[in-house]
Amino acid sequence: MSVPAPTLVRMSISTLPTHAAPDPDADVAAGSGTGTGTGTGTETAARPARDRPRRPGLSPSRANDYMQCPLLFRFRVVDKLPEPPSEAAARGTLVHAVLERLYDAPAGERTETSARALLPGEWDRLRTAEPRYAAMFASAEQEEAWLAGAAKLLTTYFTLENPTRLEPRERELFVESQLDDGPLLRGIVDRLDVAPDGAVRVVDYKTGRSPRAGYEGTALFQMRFYALVLWRATGKVPRMLQLVYLGDGQVLRHEPGEPELVTTERRVRWLWDSIQRTARSGEWKPRTSALCGWCAHQALCPAFGGTPPEVPAGAVELALGVAPPAVEGTDTVGGPTTVGPPAAGPAAAAQRAAGPAEQPVGALG
Ligand code: SF4
Repeated sequence: MSVPAPTLVRMSISTLPTHAAPDPDADVAAGSGTGTGTGTGTETAARPARDRPRRPGLSPSRANDYMQCPLLFRFRVVDKLPEPPSEAAARGTLVHAVLERLYDAPAGERTETSARALLPGEWDRLRTAEPRYAAMFASAEQEEAWLAGAAKLLTTYFTLENPTRLEPRERELFVESQLDDGPLLRGIVDRLDVAPDGAVRVVDYKTGRSPRAGYEGTALFQMRFYALVLWRATGKVPRMLQLVYLGDGQVLRHEPGEPELVTTERRVRWLWDSIQRTARSGEWKPRTSALCGWCAHQALCPAFGGTPPEVPAGAVELALGVAPPAVEGTDTVGGPTTVGPPAAGPAAAAQRAAGPAEQPVGALG
């Protein structure tokens, strides 16, 4: 269902944070410290992410990782193993950067032409910041074709929203909230709009295709997670959660209510407890599924004949704030917790090229 976006105008919410940060997960295990906690239950960040002490916490992406596969979560959050850059992910990063910059211009100048004109400069900036992106292309022609794909996504964006009629309250907004006796939740909201009556709309851009009916679970979980963080941080439930799919020109909207956010909080707390129990036990088990086809760590996965590396000393405490078992060699044990279709060979390679699969409603939401 494609729907036109309503016109919203700027309105201040003094309790919302007003800064941007590039990557909520970059903080997950980067260190520990005093944090920004007040002990009063919830809070928002007040300083740029790079200036804040790092604390263990949970973002929607990493929560999804754990639900998909505890071992994958370990590889990403605890071991922090590098993953090769993907063209799709890099294109998503580029398009997000352009859409953020687009709103720097006066409203009347936010045209498709000006958005496309931002592409080369933003690509240069990203390549400088992430030199490994340069290795993605075997030829200039390949890179040109890839950039043309990004431009096409921008064209689609202008069929879904009219940025000359929007005045976002925030873009690339880093949000976090400390739950009482629970995890620190964090994430980055692509865009926050505030209507004249104070209603808040959370907007997330997706450069892939929209999920099929009945498979919106992963996307809805992410948006409810953000709604929960904002609700706990400001005391106000966002009126609208909106996902803008540039891959197929669809918009998915959802109006959250307090009861479902209470349920989301209960699930997030349960998830965090489960992560910490796993960290204490050291049993980061692989959970195979069709999504293994996109996993960059198959070669290290016992479910595919690999052997995980030892967990670096101190990494579990740093990432998750709990101590792992003292006995060496118990960091990863056992076989897969769920046996799914093996994901190797040509079919898996094609899957990897196409991007992650959908997950059904109920899996995460
Ligand atoms: S290959 Fe599959 S089971 Fe193994 S770590 Fe990756 S996602 Fe988990």
